[in-house]
Amino acid sequence: MRLRGNKRRKTDDQPEPQGTPGLAVELCGVRRQYGRGKGAVHALGGIDLVLSRGTFTAVMGPSGSGKSTFLQCAAGLDRPSAGSVRLGGTEITGMRENQLTELRRSRLGFVFQAFNLLPSLTVEENVLLPMRLAGQRRDRRRAAQVLAQVGLADKAGRRPGELSGGQQQRVAIARALVARPDVIFADEPTGALDSTTAAEVLSLLRHAVDTLGATVVMVTHDPAAAAWADRVLFLADGVFAGGLDCGSPERIAARMADLTSRTGAMARAAA
Ligand code: ADP
Repeated sequence: MRLRGNKRRKTDDQPEPQGTPGLAVELCGVRRQYGRGKGAVHALGGIDLVLSRGTFTAVMGPSGSGKSTFLQCAAGLDRPSAGSVRLGGTEITGMRENQLTELRRSRLGFVFQAFNLLPSLTVEENVLLPMRLAGQRRDRRRAAQVLAQVGLADKAGRRPGELSGGQQQRVAIARALVARPDVIFADEPTGALDSTTAAEVLSLLRHAVDTLGATVVMVTHDPAAAAWADRVLFLADGVFAGGLDCGSPERIAARMADLTSRTGAMARAAA
């Protein structure tokens, strides 16, 4: 199945278009197999996906459906066994490891469940870290700008340990935004947060898409989180098993329950 992320209309005042118009993510026939022969696990069974810039896509699926493998392959953290991945128009399939590392630092943003901030660095230094690692100059004005965008203008000099979980995740979002990436990949970004704080973090991602033109791909098991996306894609046994546009948490949860019971029934039948 070929799926295309729908593009939500952006506001007229778009101060910071990120990159050129077009496609942010293109996966073609992506497969990922672990092991060989009889014991091989087909974690991804042929993924075709096209996501436009300025879209917010959630990927859901039962445990073991391939969500992590999908994210790793789509973000250049793992190599597909077959197929191709293009990010921001750049073919990453076959890139050398150092080229991939450079691309991840300069053109992708990452937000993880565990925040992944460096405790010994200040908030500002954490935000500037991807640019520093990419060998770019330390742009303190840009750091101040993205910290203001996530509501942490007054926290630049603090250390992560002095902030709440929600504030730390907002720092991670600022870090993901700082280089105006082609895509932000978020892996269960609200998994460690209470529901109120989670909603604040998700509204920030939503805001980044709607007003800054960012592109977000988020893996989550939480229907309430997925409901912030333009589109929810459901993975089952390593392939996309449908999508839902702008679904409510209840509709998303119902679709997930249906999918989980169907894949459970298939697994029981195969056993
Ligand atoms: P999810 O994130 O949806 O829980 P994963 O992408 O982690 O799913 O896993 C998909 C399938 O691939 C599962 O059957 C899992 O056991 C298998 N798998 C994942 N990583 C490995 C690995 N390193 N070696 C072998 N099998 C793996």
